[in-house]
Amino acid sequence: MASDVDVLVVGAGACGLAAAITAHDAGVDVAIIEKLDRPGGNSALSTGSVPAAGTRFQREAGIEDSTERFVEDLIRKGGPTDCPDLLRRLVETSAETVEWLVDSVGARMALVTAYKHVGHSVARLHAPVSRRGQDLVDDLLAAADKRGIPLAVGNGARALLTDANGAVIGADIETGNGERHRIIARKVILAVNGFAGNRDLVARFCPEVSGAQYFGARGSTGEAVLWGEQLGAALGNIGAYQGYAAVSDPHGSLLSWTTIEKGGIVVNGAGTRFGDESAGYSGYTPNVMAQRGPCFAIFDQRIFDVTAAEEEFVELANYGGVRKADTADALAAFHRLDAVAVAASLGAYNKAARGEKPDAFGRRDFALAPLTPPFYICRVVPGLFHTQGGLVVDIGGRVLRPNGKPIANLFAGGGAAAGLSGRTGAGGYASGNGLLSAIGLGRLAALAAAREIAEAAA
Ligand SMILES: Cc1cc2nc3c(=O)[nH]c(=O)nc-3n(C[C@H](O)[C@H](O)[C@H](O)COP(=O)(O)OP(=O)(O)OC[C@H]3O[C@@H](n4cnc5c(N)ncnc54)[C@H](O)[C@@H]3O)c2cc1C
Repeated sequence: MASDVDVLVVGAGACGLAAAITAHDAGVDVAIIEKLDRPGGNSALSTGSVPAAGTRFQREAGIEDSTERFVEDLIRKGGPTDCPDLLRRLVETSAETVEWLVDSVGARMALVTAYKHVGHSVARLHAPVSRRGQDLVDDLLAAADKRGIPLAVGNGARALLTDANGAVIGADIETGNGERHRIIARKVILAVNGFAGNRDLVARFCPEVSGAQYFGARGSTGEAVLWGEQLGAALGNIGAYQGYAAVSDPHGSLLSWTTIEKGGIVVNGAGTRFGDESAGYSGYTPNVMAQRGPCFAIFDQRIFDVTAAEEEFVELANYGGVRKADTADALAAFHRLDAVAVAASLGAYNKAARGEKPDAFGRRDFALAPLTPPFYICRVVPGLFHTQGGLVVDIGGRVLRPNGKPIANLFAGGGAAAGLSGRTGAGGYASGNGLLSAIGLGRLAALAAAREIAEAAA
């Protein structure tokens, strides 16, 4: 059958763009379709941070890192994974991925050395200087444009097309004005992200976070999982997700976790603490979910001053999302909390921070605490950033059946594929896992697809 294109990439986030650029540079004909009217997806909302071990940027900064160290960090954070070979492959190609972004794509990235990120024992996140994922997406878009890669926005794939043997041969597309057409392709790369925007799938696979406010892009509605199930694909690490324990309420922006990391606490509607906040912003999400109502982040002036270096935090404070009080009583009064309970929570926590007794919830990292007046308080609810589970793929991004055999011509990467954050829950997410899978696996999938096309032609 004659095809319209060698490789059809579905989805124009970081994964799709990286895959398309790589496929083009490998000499195959490639096109991208995007269902929304603008590209970028969650990648544009992220901080654009991509972890990599052994880059020249780390060497220049005198940082020693290795594949082994990075793998150990991910396993320590994420626990058992359904896809250990994929995890190792993404780690061992991570330096190449970041250097490719800088050298071939022209992405404006630098190693972040100012602070360590969740789950990493050394500085290995490479990010746009602005920390805006949109900048990374813009650089990828410019590189795709320079190569003349067609990108059709407002063209959502509605279904995958298969032949009589179950091999994928293209996709059925719907345009914004409801017109339908088909694109026939030798290989299809699914770069449609996960299912965090699909309530039913979240309830089915990640019930502990079901009902949390979704904080990502609109396009993540789970087509990879739905189509994969129809085609008999295996799903992996399907219960894992990245959450955020402190979305300000009702403002809806993120309360910087620096406020907690630097010694702040979170109390529930009864004014009492309920866990070890040092689990991190994602890891602590289920604890906040379990309170079944708004919670309250409390910190003090020194922590406020440190966090004031962050633009989004200052904006939230200016809009009244963070309130200041000189006493625990006044602090509690802002949100009609039980003042005695709040004072008792602060008192017990401060004793632990001063080393007078162990923390009731096992917290050991108190940073700038004990907390002293004046205090600040912010009402928070839990949020869901993105899901980490998806289609099981091999180290070339080929989508696999439960028996380990590939579904012919179908590839997946990024949030569409099984991720790097362990099998289940919010605690396994190490910073940058999302984009490493998006860009690293997008590249590996495109290289494998191009190789298969070349082999078929030989
Ligand atoms: C607030 C926030 C902060 C984050 N910070 C980081 C970070 O710093 N580092 C990190 O690694 N990760 C971070 N993440 C996670 C990261 O953004 C994602 O893991 C990553 O962007 C996924 O990339 P992707 O290309 O797979 O998906 P996306 O970037 O979401 O792209 C998928 C695209 O596919 C399109 N699409 C969906 N369905 C279809 C269809 N049927 N047909 C056509 N197109 C379709 C979507 O509209 C979208 O444009 C963050 C996430 C959020 C929400």
